[in-house]
Amino acid sequence: MTTMQQRIDEVERRIRDACARSGRSREEVRLIAVTKYVSTETTIAAVRHGLLQLGENRWQDAQAKWHALQDIDGPAPTWHFIGSLQTNKVKEVVGRFACIHSLDRPSLAKEINRKAEQLGIRVPCLLQVNVSGEDTKHGLPPEELRGFAATLADLPFIQPAGLMTMAPYEAEPEETRPVFRSLRELRDELNRAAVLPEPLHELSMGMSNDFEIAVEEGATWLRLGTVLVGKEEEA
Ligand SMILES: *Cc1c(COP(=O)(O)O)cnc(C)c1O
Repeated sequence: MTTMQQRIDEVERRIRDACARSGRSREEVRLIAVTKYVSTETTIAAVRHGLLQLGENRWQDAQAKWHALQDIDGPAPTWHFIGSLQTNKVKEVVGRFACIHSLDRPSLAKEINRKAEQLGIRVPCLLQVNVSGEDTKHGLPPEELRGFAATLADLPFIQPAGLMTMAPYEAEPEETRPVFRSLRELRDELNRAAVLPEPLHELSMGMSNDFEIAVEEGATWLRLGTVLVGKEEEA
């Protein structure tokens, strides 16, 4: 049996090695523990082990955990919404999740902006890009990114913070490199063209199978489920 602390230590070692290979500092790379495959108990254990950034991809599945975690002692976790977001779930997600990683269409942007205005908050959002072009993946086609980003200037309660992508699963993780590199280049191009008033910093990329490549290509947020907190049949 692998304990959670062993998983954390092993992930930490692999991140440090990837940072060393690519001349990055460890502090530039932050971790989101994706808890969608595990129970509330395991999620609480993750927080007790110091994993204070949590990610979930469906409100329906996350809500019991989200509520349970409000009442625990000790440092409170911060939630990231990482899955495809239905417009009718925006009212549940805005205000509960500190950052939305899956902004990918104008109707969703308008709804997030509307709800955030009601609450009097600005919501950090990442623009999800379908770099690989697989039809099973959500996200904007790269060629639509710039036009979409420009429309966000009219939605003051959205704070565009960066880009997000999911690479296809590859038996050989090295093959994901072009996807991650493209996301970084897209971010840098948007910043050079000053499409948004504030430059975008974040790159949310890298999952259990490919996170070391993502680190080497500039990831600032890794979204790690299986490799970090495990996967439970009954969760
Ligand atoms: C499930 C999920 C992850 C984590 O997946 P693992 O392969 O278990 O690390 C990361 N990002 C998104 C968007 C997910 O849905």
